[in-house]
Amino acid sequence: NHQLIRAQVSDQIVNDDGFVLEDVPHLTNFLPDLPSYPNPLQKSQAYAIVKKTFVSSEDSVAQNIVVQKDTPRGVHFRRAGPREKVYFKSDEVRACIVTCGGLCPGINTVIREIVCGLNYMYGVDNILGIEGGYKGFYSRNTTTLTPKVVNDIHKRGGTFLCTSRGGHDTNKIVDNIQDRGINQVYIIGGDGTQRGAALIYKEVEKRGLPIAVAGIPKTIDNDIAVIDKSFGFDTAVEEAQRAINAAHVEAESVENGVGIVKLMGRYSGFIAMFATLASRDVDCCLIPESPFYLEGRGGLFDFIEQRLKENGHMVIVVAEGAGQEYVAQNMPGVDEKDASGNRLLLDIGLWLTQKIKDHFSKVRKMTINMKYIDPTYMIRAIPSNASDNIYCTLLAQSAVHGAMAGYTGFTVGPVNSRHAYIPIARVTEATNTVKLTDRMWARLLASTNQPSFLNSSDVLQNDITGAINSMNSNSI
Ligand code: ATP
Ligand code: MG
Repeated sequence: NHQLIRAQVSDQIVNDDGFVLEDVPHLTNFLPDLPSYPNPLQKSQAYAIVKKTFVSSEDSVAQNIVVQKDTPRGVHFRRAGPREKVYFKSDEVRACIVTCGGLCPGINTVIREIVCGLNYMYGVDNILGIEGGYKGFYSRNTTTLTPKVVNDIHKRGGTFLCTSRGGHDTNKIVDNIQDRGINQVYIIGGDGTQRGAALIYKEVEKRGLPIAVAGIPKTIDNDIAVIDKSFGFDTAVEEAQRAINAAHVEAESVENGVGIVKLMGRYSGFIAMFATLASRDVDCCLIPESPFYLEGRGGLFDFIEQRLKENGHMVIVVAEGAGQEYVAQNMPGVDEKDASGNRLLLDIGLWLTQKIKDHFSKVRKMTINMKYIDPTYMIRAIPSNASDNIYCTLLAQSAVHGAMAGYTGFTVGPVNSRHAYIPIARVTEATNTVKLTDRMWARLLASTNQPSFLNSSDVLQNDITGAINSMNSNSI
């Protein structure tokens, strides 16, 4: 019963008790004469049940599940799900799907479920696969996607549609969408891809085209803001444990064995943190958010020596983005970029392995056995596990319901375990990182008993930022 008041900010509805709805654009916002039809799901034999699954346009999902006394109710998003009225007639829909950026377990499941969702729920049978990422819009042929074609693809890793980096040309892409008569665009990809999707949506809006643009965020690192978790993350953590286990077996079987496992995580250490917490074989976890040092009291070398004395072996997990400033100091002038303009990271795993080896042989006169494992491509290439498969299905179905209902310029994802439609800009403007003052990192430190590598002034600074962050995040 909250009276909604339109605020100054476009697409934001605010009321007086601090309730904010960050709305996603709707085709009727810029195409007021767009028709609306009854949802074809109403024709289902189980209509009595289906009717109950319809989501009212009033339903919203709260970003902050814990609301402290006297604090505003905070940001909400539109709840995802089927609507009673849809804005496209089934036989008028011409949808396309494109996948861009790096691989991640579950992409094929998302593709499959968009195709099946459109076909089974909405009777759409005109679905195109754009091959090879954004470039595929203008440089390649398309494939026709039917439930039969995609039937088994979720059992394979990679992307059925192939992917690429670079080559995003908004105008050419929208020209192509227009030429092909496409009116629903599903874009699966990471932060770069979603930025590209936002530009496509803006151009479509500028041209006044009745085209829904839906993004499905993909990042194995789990670094997407707002949403609870990104697809493929669970699978990645599970697979990472195999590598950790191998490193542990290797380290344990020799004298003074040190196993190092490099895991994905360019800017955030979620995979490293969760794999460490899950495995219990890890003695030390290094992530980009937590600076560490090697020499001196409380440094990594001291800790390694201590663990080797206690246990005879140890395992270190290092996220790829950790300690980049160290490696950069040792390789000045190396600054390579990929086709999309992302800075290529220097290999912290190799660097760390060499540093430890040198230090122990030269300074501490100790022979140690280093075993370095980089399972990155093995992890990225596997099919998604059971929980990710279910999750990918939900993402795909939410995207289909949203586009059919006429929403556009949105991404989908769970916010406090309820699926929501989130404005694309919301997920591209910030990244999700491990907060050192969050409870999960504290649990990790307690579990490994590793040094925190923080001095008291760092802790103080972190407490302050942490306190601010914890007001915005829902730490479990
Ligand atoms: P990941 O980082 O998880 O591999 P990503 O989507 O970030 O995925 P990128 O290679 O950065 O991967 O980008 C994928 C596609 O998006 C590329 O085709 C690239 O041209 C395009 N893209 C990246 N950044 C932008 C941007 N700022 N504006 C428009 N397009 C972009
Ligand atoms: Mg990226």
